[in-house]
Amino acid sequence: MEHIDYTPWYISPKTKCLLSDYETEPTSKGWRSGSELEEHLADMGDKLDKLQSTLHAAKTRGLLVVFQGMDTAGKDGVIRSVFSHVSPLGVRAEAFGVPTELESRHDFLWRIHAKAPARGEMVIFNRSHYEDVLVTRVRGWIDEETCQKRYNDILHFESLLQDAGISVLKCYLHISKSEQKKRLQSRLDDQRKHWKLQPSDFGDRDLWPQFTQAYEEALSATSTPESPWYVVPADSKPYRDSFVAGLIVQTLDNMKLKMPKPSFDLSKVKLS
Ligand code: ADP
Repeated sequence: MEHIDYTPWYISPKTKCLLSDYETEPTSKGWRSGSELEEHLADMGDKLDKLQSTLHAAKTRGLLVVFQGMDTAGKDGVIRSVFSHVSPLGVRAEAFGVPTELESRHDFLWRIHAKAPARGEMVIFNRSHYEDVLVTRVRGWIDEETCQKRYNDILHFESLLQDAGISVLKCYLHISKSEQKKRLQSRLDDQRKHWKLQPSDFGDRDLWPQFTQAYEEALSATSTPESPWYVVPADSKPYRDSFVAGLIVQTLDNMKLKMPKPSFDLSKVKLS
């Protein structure tokens, strides 16, 4: 399969990442545009469906796809669009909100590990353990030392998953502050979208620089070749969806999955 080079959007381990170096619109890095995007998404959707069926049948590997981003970055939208192409069998989406009383009495990875994929599964995280080094950091609920410890805990946790055959692919949906304003305004203008609004959406917007800095640090500290972070240009929804679909296809394709062999001799089967 011909692969797209996603390297420009990959966060190199241990290098300081500056989100302002990454575009939120797909302008200068020469990818696709217009109707090509629709075709690409349809094509990637077919491939994703086939690869996911093999993952489900083989049960030798699993995949965790993490989505993070500022409010309105498009986590719900990309999940709906990309994963509508696959069978619900063997696919699960999990969302993480403010920890419950019980969850907050456990270590921060407790609720996350419980929802991690088994071999044969593809699991999508809408928010994740990264909230525990992002919102908690920005709001001052944890100090610098705790945050550094958590980066290490996260690296070990994701390496543990890798050892069990579970790959972790992490997507930061990168939108501009002006695009967020448009999306919040459209939610205010459309009654059907009011349920999505939280007071924190507006409060967090005022903390945009603080969230940006927390993301930059977290992404730099936790991107590894085995569990990479990619910065997804997300102001354009068709581009975002096409980009993410291609990235997941590439990740599954690199696993070189094989359909399991039949457990008995099919040549001996005689249909009556
Ligand atoms: P979303 O905004 O993703 O559509 P919700 O409206 O349910 O979903 O918001 C989830 C909220 O839970 C967000 O404000 C997020 O910051 C918060 N949250 C998630 N995980 C944690 C965590 N570990 N600690 C504190 N807050 C968290």
